[in-house]
Amino acid sequence: MFLPHGTNVFLAEAIKKAVDTPVACIGGGLVGCETAVHLADAGREVIVMEIAKDWAVDAPRFHKDALRKALRGRVEILTVTNVKEISHEGPRPVVRAEGADGREMVIAADSVFVATGLRPGETLVDEFRRAAPVVFVIGDASTPGQVTQAVEQAHYAAADI
Ligand SMILES: Cc1cc2nc3c(=O)[nH]c(=O)nc-3n(C[C@H](O)[C@H](O)[C@H](O)COP(=O)(O)OP(=O)(O)OC[C@H]3O[C@@H](n4cnc5c(N)ncnc54)[C@H](O)[C@@H]3O)c2cc1C
Repeated sequence: MFLPHGTNVFLAEAIKKAVDTPVACIGGGLVGCETAVHLADAGREVIVMEIAKDWAVDAPRFHKDALRKALRGRVEILTVTNVKEISHEGPRPVVRAEGADGREMVIAADSVFVATGLRPGETLVDEFRRAAPVVFVIGDASTPGQVTQAVEQAHYAAADI
């Protein structure tokens, strides 16, 4: 698997509207698709590459319907597309992927953002475990998810104090 590096390669959480266009998005989950909409709203040309057979598989149905409308005609989504590498051969990032037909695809974008999922930062969490007699690890520090899950876990942790 590739490591994001170099100029104009961002993690989705660090993306700003003012990125250079066209933009390649690695990962067509909820975060990748919503960020693609955000960039399309800002006039950027976006192509999303997703390894699975469908995009935003984790989205509730109504959410996905709304996303579909927002993406239609503005964002190209390639499913069954396995990104292997982001490299710099000159000033622009180059994305290499295996397409649905098994052939290599080479996409030269002006910006790339990576939305392939998050893992908790266990080292930081371990440092904080000794900060108090009782420490609750909740939200994305426990399992990356959504705001409602983080708030629910916070509610129950507070109720346990
Ligand atoms: C691009 C993107 C889009 C998303 N969109 C949605 C969405 O539409 N709907 C949804 O429900 N969820 C969405 N999520 C997920 C949602 O943001 C998270 O699940 C939620 O924010 C988790 O809350 P949290 O409090 O655990 O972590 P965070 O909201 O990440 O808060 C952690 C905080 O801790 C701070 N921090 C880190 N280290 C330290 C330190 N050493 N000392 C002090 N502070 C520190 C950070 O700066 C941050 O402010 C999205 C996530 C991303 C990345």
